[in-house]
Amino acid sequence: MDYQNSNDRPQRQMFDISSKGITCEECKKPITELPFEPTEREDGGYGKLYCYECNKKRMKDRGPRGNFGGGNRY
Ligand SMILES: [Zn+2]
Repeated sequence: MDYQNSNDRPQRQMFDISSKGITCEECKKPITELPFEPTEREDGGYGKLYCYECNKKRMKDRGPRGNFGGGNRY
């Protein structure tokens, strides 16, 4: 494999939010960075935010969308 071109793909930008004091809604750990910049709401909060780990877990739990009918066919 040629690894010289592996840097062509732009890295996902992470926003440093450690100064905002946001904690994860799930595990209550402080979130230091997010792939997007959270927007402050009128009440001064940022809504429900999850750390990377919990976000991943939630995505997994929810499963793929669009599978109506319930059953998996194999
Ligand atoms: Zn978390």
